[in-house]
Amino acid sequence: MRILIAEDEPSFRRLLEDILVKWGYDVEVAEDGAAALQILQSEDPPRLALLDWIMPGMEGVEVCRKVREKTTDSYTYIILLTSQQGDEDLVIGMEAGADDYITKPFKHNELRLRLRAGRRIIELQNELLAARDTFRTKASHDSLSGLWNHEEILRLLSQELSRAEREEKCVGVIMADIDFFKKINDTYGHLTGDVVLQSTANKMCSLMRSYDFVGRYGGEEFLIILTECCLECAASFAERLRLCVGSAAFDTPEGIIPVTISLGVAASGTDWKAGAEALVKAADAALYRAKENGRNRVELYVQPANGG
Ligand code: GH3
Ligand code: MG
Ligand code: MG
Ligand code: MG
Repeated sequence: MRILIAEDEPSFRRLLEDILVKWGYDVEVAEDGAAALQILQSEDPPRLALLDWIMPGMEGVEVCRKVREKTTDSYTYIILLTSQQGDEDLVIGMEAGADDYITKPFKHNELRLRLRAGRRIIELQNELLAARDTFRTKASHDSLSGLWNHEEILRLLSQELSRAEREEKCVGVIMADIDFFKKINDTYGHLTGDVVLQSTANKMCSLMRSYDFVGRYGGEEFLIILTECCLECAASFAERLRLCVGSAAFDTPEGIIPVTISLGVAASGTDWKAGAEALVKAADAALYRAKENGRNRVELYVQPANGG
């Protein structure tokens, strides 16, 4: 584990460095408070720091205070080094955000144990962060396809529409639905149906630009958001999706399964400024027409003559 030593006294600094290297730490050193702060405020700072209290310029306790001012995900466990005379007010040190302190000269074993406690805190925090990330992913993604889930894709659509409004850009929306999917389930079983769903999602993802979004809107329906994309551009993208999915059948353990999709396209922009709900409804209406007109095709939303 990486650790920062900030100590102005060269011989003591070297002593600390030698000990910590011997204990397997990856040591970084700073000769004064300002250098220590720079390291601790860098993008990827060490998660453990031993800061001497009395240093020229910026004292350890001030470094500590400044580090704590910024709340970041990566917590740094700080141990202050104080002198035996006890000139320093330990309450001030702890209030500045130090986690622990150790008095110079120190017993090696004591330092070792205190560092171990610090490491445990850092490891626990890492676990918490990982759990939080997993939870966030679960809350926003569909577990079967790995795509954004229903709530998240609608949230993203609202977000993109607000951005587009500010920047006076278009947003294209596609509703895609697998054709005769019930029949695939009925013929090959639901597990194979799941595989087909996943594979269809993967195929669509492979075509997406990094700044567009695709979510699983419902059972075998996908909602695609195309940023800075007008109706014509969304329509040609929908056609590419249709060809990509339909061009090669899926090879599953239950057999080779040809799959096609129908797509409905709508866009909000200069001609028609629509909210998320109206846009989804419009894409859905177009999808309905694609189904009516024979499936495996793309249809565009046409506004009713009265403009409603
Ligand atoms: P259409 O061409 O008109 O869209 O016909 P369809 O059969 O695809 O549409 P329908 O709405 O009749 O059936 C959709 C089926 O999708 C019914 C449902 O059981 C199935 N389905 C929904 N979610 C899942 C899923 O997560 N896994 C599997 N295997 N099937 C699903
Ligand atoms: Mg000092
Ligand atoms: Mg379907
Ligand atoms: Mg459907």
